[in-house]
Amino acid sequence: MRLYSFQFQGLTRIGVALPGEKAVLDLAEAAPDLPGNPIELITNFSQFAEIINDRAGSKLSSKWMRDLETLPLVAPIPRPGKILCSGINYRSHLEENPDAILPDEPFFFAKLPSTVIGHNHPIKYPKLSQQVDYEIEFAAVIGRKMTNTTEPEALEHVFGYTILHDVSARDVQFRNSQITLGKNFDTFCPIGPCVVTRDEIPRPDRIGLKTFVNGQKMQDGSTADWLFSLPQLLSFLSQRITLEPGDIVSTGTPAGVGVFRKPPLFLHPGDVVRLQADQIGILQNEVIADVN
Ligand code: MG
Repeated sequence: MRLYSFQFQGLTRIGVALPGEKAVLDLAEAAPDLPGNPIELITNFSQFAEIINDRAGSKLSSKWMRDLETLPLVAPIPRPGKILCSGINYRSHLEENPDAILPDEPFFFAKLPSTVIGHNHPIKYPKLSQQVDYEIEFAAVIGRKMTNTTEPEALEHVFGYTILHDVSARDVQFRNSQITLGKNFDTFCPIGPCVVTRDEIPRPDRIGLKTFVNGQKMQDGSTADWLFSLPQLLSFLSQRITLEPGDIVSTGTPAGVGVFRKPPLFLHPGDVVRLQADQIGILQNEVIADVN
């Protein structure tokens, strides 16, 4: 299944697409007895999945379907709990960064829930930066609490997968190692377009990832290039920070980011960034000037 969140008459609703479907079942109409909050839904999803399947198969289901093409999407989890992002987790990205050394353990930083936006929402170019950069990332959405979880058990705690855009202001990030500040301007964390449940992606370590800026391909990698596997990242984190349903763990970006291109290439207002991940879809956002 694919979980979407969308705006309807000023409120956020959840839509679920079954495999192969181009429309979503509007849960507020089809299953008003289920939680309307995506984190609550995820927390007990195994008990709700059967209800959703039943309603989708009901003869009333066409009344409850909404066309995905025209749905005003927001991030599938509009306000995640924690967002923890791995830095330097692709061999190709390590090799393109002249200052990076092979890490002996996973490296993490946080993005803040207030930075999250959804598909088709604009990324605001902050006044303090001239070096805003793109990074496509494959991200796991946690479905069950994880504390000191072993690597073999780690994936059982994942609800599903999504695309996370780790937008980065390089001049802010690299000046005095301000990674938190460089990664957390408003709108710097597009997520979406949906969360694909774990059962639909049996090999998260075989996902092709591509970034296009104004139609030109900039990143073309695969999660097969990870330095630390997803179970390693999750187990490592869970020994230090308890992960909870609705938290997001992102797995780093492959080569091709703007800052390490020769010559460097940064985003500008008017640019359109399209991130494409196999088995998930497309997350697209336009960059606009921050006029506030
Ligand atoms: Mg990143």
